[in-house]
Amino acid sequence: MIRLYVTHPLLADAAFPLDDGQSRYLTQVMRKAVGDELLVFNGADGEWRCRIDQVGKRFVILKVTSLQRPQVVSPDLILLIAVVKRGRMETIVEKATELGVAEIWPVLTERTNTERLREDRLMIIATEASEQTGRLDVPNIAAPAKLDKTLSKWEPERRLLFCDEAGDAVPILAALTDAGLGPWAILIGPEGGFSPTERAKLRGLPFAVPVSLGPRILRADTAAISAMTLWQAALGDWRT
Ligand code: SAM
Repeated sequence: MIRLYVTHPLLADAAFPLDDGQSRYLTQVMRKAVGDELLVFNGADGEWRCRIDQVGKRFVILKVTSLQRPQVVSPDLILLIAVVKRGRMETIVEKATELGVAEIWPVLTERTNTERLREDRLMIIATEASEQTGRLDVPNIAAPAKLDKTLSKWEPERRLLFCDEAGDAVPILAALTDAGLGPWAILIGPEGGFSPTERAKLRGLPFAVPVSLGPRILRADTAAISAMTLWQAALGDWRT
């Protein structure tokens, strides 16, 4: 069944218009009509079944019928990703959304070679991935910020998995076994990796946990996907 992310409060019998893009998608692309059902979620009220109540020239009115799934909170995991080239960045946002991260924080490091981010495009990718993957929320994507600045405002109880390609770090699964629940973050560097100064600074942080993702150097998107998958398997909402 089609799932759409909406920004309206969701409760039984509520009725609201979809935006122009979503209305067109429903009626012209998916050929839906009055009486057809779909699922909607807004990140706060759970997932609700809706019925198409009216189809106007430029908008569709939905009528909320019943609660399908109560709201659940995504695992408390933030992905800090050094800004990389557009295509890879879009892949990372889509996969991070599918893998259930709560927030995505693009960071600028010494070797970041692109600063420009199409945040609106990334938000669309995250929303579409949330709709496809069955999430009940959409991850927040922060504006790019310098890594130092982000770390200077760090919440001390949040542990940071520092994915360090330089080696001599604990394998990530060993670091996560018996690591305990709580707020976590994952840090992935840019194509050019971390500078020696950055590495020394990061390894000196009390909340940083340097980890290895194996003996090979992974591309930033591969590294992000591997680290998020392993974290979810060890501490996330996959645990049986
Ligand atoms: N300079 C290389 C390159 O151009 O591909 C390495 C950078 S790598 C693409 C980007 C980031 O992925 C690294 O900074 C690190 O955070 C992560 N990464 C890649 N391989 C890793 C490994 N074997 N262990 C830990 N982290 C890794």
